[in-house]
Amino acid sequence: MPNPKTLISEEDIKARVEELAAQISLDYADKEEIVLVGVLKGSFIFLADLSRRLSIPRHIEFIAVSSYEHGSVRSGAVRLVMDVRRSIEGKHVLIVEDIVDTGHTLHYLIDMLKSRNPASIRTCTLLHKEHATEVDVKIDYLGFAIGDEWVVGYGLDYDEKDRTLPYIGVINPDD
Ligand code: 5GP
Repeated sequence: MPNPKTLISEEDIKARVEELAAQISLDYADKEEIVLVGVLKGSFIFLADLSRRLSIPRHIEFIAVSSYEHGSVRSGAVRLVMDVRRSIEGKHVLIVEDIVDTGHTLHYLIDMLKSRNPASIRTCTLLHKEHATEVDVKIDYLGFAIGDEWVVGYGLDYDEKDRTLPYIGVINPDD
């Protein structure tokens, strides 16, 4: 199978991640610490790059969710499969996602983490499929808006393949 077609180059990702890290560092400059909650598996590379560019004290946590499926149709319901390991009560939480598609996953995570009384909660996603939104979620930090197509690379997969591609690519279903 040919390599996925480039949608966002490695250089463009790097530049945008630097901008996001600078903005986040500025916004949280007066806070004691920020808790970055990476959503597995897709966000692991984005989180690694973003967290290393922050100039503020940070603590890293991970969470994992899975979508309920009926046959091959996603129902929109989300299930927690791995929780954070430290209490987030009174903490400034930033959820770090790879991609927001319908919005169900992020909506679920915001609700769930909010119920644990953090000092604040914001969201950061590398990619957003703006026209696929089914539930409105507030995205505080966005890397790139993209069209409604399946993307891979920089942590994102297609059937566990292509996660380690250095760029964001598009799978052509005809390949
Ligand atoms: P949502 O709940 O917003 O519909 O979906 C979010 C999740 O769906 C993402 O965290 C990701 O796991 C998966 N997803 C949605 N679109 C894509 C895509 O184009 N590529 C990949 N690799 N995953 C996607």
